[in-house]
Amino acid sequence: MKIAIMGAMPEEISPILEKIGTYKTTAYAGNSYYEATYKGIELVIAYSKIGKVFSTLTATTMIEHFGATKLLFSGVAGAISSSLKVGDLIVATKLSQHDLDITAFGHPYGYVPGGSVFVEADKEMIEISKIVASEMGKNIQEGIIATGDQFVANEERKNWIGTTFGADALEMEGGSVAVVCNALNIAFFILRSISDAADMDASFSFDEFLESSAKESAEFIIKMVDKLAD
Ligand code: SAH
Repeated sequence: MKIAIMGAMPEEISPILEKIGTYKTTAYAGNSYYEATYKGIELVIAYSKIGKVFSTLTATTMIEHFGATKLLFSGVAGAISSSLKVGDLIVATKLSQHDLDITAFGHPYGYVPGGSVFVEADKEMIEISKIVASEMGKNIQEGIIATGDQFVANEERKNWIGTTFGADALEMEGGSVAVVCNALNIAFFILRSISDAADMDASFSFDEFLESSAKESAEFIIKMVDKLAD
């Protein structure tokens, strides 16, 4: 088993690298990949840069070039559901691309032929996350995550995404990582901690809480890896 741990921004993976301590850095395809052995498990860690294209490249590279056999994503997201507050954790049950739109041809939002509106995350790792959460005394919510190449800071857009996809949170990488893992048959787990409410204050909230929320998510991911190593 080789586990890929992925984020989009440096802040999302630096708590993990700090915890791992020693790692080997490899430059590949315009990015840095960090490899380590942790509790007997091989890890490859990277942040992709923001958005669906960079996250697709990184997820594919981690699997095809570095040989990852499972992928865990750690990061921050904007909340849609009013039950999600800053710092809360959400585990994706399934993901969609909210900005994928060929509805002019009668298709639903998020759909292109050969694809599907939603991609489901690995159920086994979701079950493991529930055990980890209870051991940590943490509350995690499961829900649908919608992904698009937009920082959403607009109540109307956020509500549309919520209604159209039944989404509880939104971000910019999960849906593309899900497509890659699904196509390559790699079990994946996507965790996000809330940094903002995707409303008009979102950019201020994001700047204030990026670091603390990214850390919340990263700490949980480390416990997930601990559990997978058992
Ligand atoms: N401040 C950064 C840009 C952050 S973009 C810069 O200037 O470089 C937002 C990142 O956090 C993305 O990786 C996305 O996945 C996540 N995210 C958090 N809140 C979001 C929101 N409201 N809309 C979309 N993505 C959000």
